[in-house]
Amino acid sequence: MVLTTNGVLGGLLQEDDGKTSAQRFTSEDGVANVRGRVLGGSSMINVGFYSKPDDQFYNEFGMHSDMDAGRISDSKGQLSAGAIGSPQLIFLSGVGPLPYLLSHKVRVVSQNADVGNFMTDNPCNIINIVVPFALAPSVGQVVGIISDFNYIEPFSRPLSSGSLRLVSSADIKVNPTVRFNYFKDPKDLSRCLRGTRLLSGMLKTNAMEGLKFEYLEGAEGFTFLGPSLPRNLANDASMEMFSRSTLMTFWHYHGGCLVGKVVDVDLRVVGTNSLRVVDGSILNTSPGTNP
Ligand SMILES: Cc1cc2nc3c(=O)[nH]c(=O)nc-3n(C[C@H](O)[C@H](O)[C@H](O)COP(=O)(O)OP(=O)(O)OC[C@H]3O[C@@H](n4cnc5c(N)ncnc54)[C@H](O)[C@@H]3O)c2cc1C
Repeated sequence: MVLTTNGVLGGLLQEDDGKTSAQRFTSEDGVANVRGRVLGGSSMINVGFYSKPDDQFYNEFGMHSDMDAGRISDSKGQLSAGAIGSPQLIFLSGVGPLPYLLSHKVRVVSQNADVGNFMTDNPCNIINIVVPFALAPSVGQVVGIISDFNYIEPFSRPLSSGSLRLVSSADIKVNPTVRFNYFKDPKDLSRCLRGTRLLSGMLKTNAMEGLKFEYLEGAEGFTFLGPSLPRNLANDASMEMFSRSTLMTFWHYHGGCLVGKVVDVDLRVVGTNSLRVVDGSILNTSPGTNP
């Protein structure tokens, strides 16, 4: 199924009846999320912003910038089940911490304490404005990025991370449990606060004037669907409450089979012959806009 601009958000909001292209899961942080349906025919679910990592990105994380199809063609197997699916399958293939694998009755191939660790998701806070005119359905068309990688779209490079663990070693379609530990590192929260204040500054610009319901009082003329921005932007406590209470995902989770921990710089799973992992699970940050 190809989701068009009109259909992409509808597909995400649909009830998960076991057949939709998006398979729902909720992280242990309590944040609702989705992944491509396992064995359900979806190759990926995506809105369509595209960016490519630069050389600096590869250098920082010790990866080769020419890691293309040619370079990895010598693998006996390549795994690309994504940041939820790949650690899940690596566990089930017998790579992980010894006591953990034994507790799930999985035959041990190689011990590795880091499988399923360093699971990261970019936290996202949004405000919704009801506009005073009819609007054709669309998704985001423009992304603004400020110097500290705070995004308007989302922000990248959170420092907090968590872990993924199996729920079933018999049924691959059962989601594993995932905890991302959003805001565990206080720097992630303070970056969200900076982003929210920036958003408030944008609402005060001339470009936003046309989106106001001028006849309504309060909220500077805007009509919010759901929470509005805190009134006192200088008050860190209420800003933090806003960031925590409106926390959602922008679906850019990554990690679980990190380069240097679970796979080597050639993306081979450490301790196996030549199985490679080639997806967002090897990353500890997003390259550019999205992983
Ligand atoms: C709604 C949404 C919008 C997004 N918008 C953007 C965007 O605009 N720009 C952007 O850059 N990124 C976007 N992303 C993020 C981007 O899609 C992901 O970061 C990217 O697809 C990750 O690629 P991946 O190869 O790691 O995993 P995925 O694309 O998730 O691919 C993993 C595949 O493996 C399959 N799989 C998993 N387990 C198994 C199994 N056991 N057996 C068989 N198959 C299995 C899944 O069904 C899936 O097809 C968006 C994500 C979502 C959910």
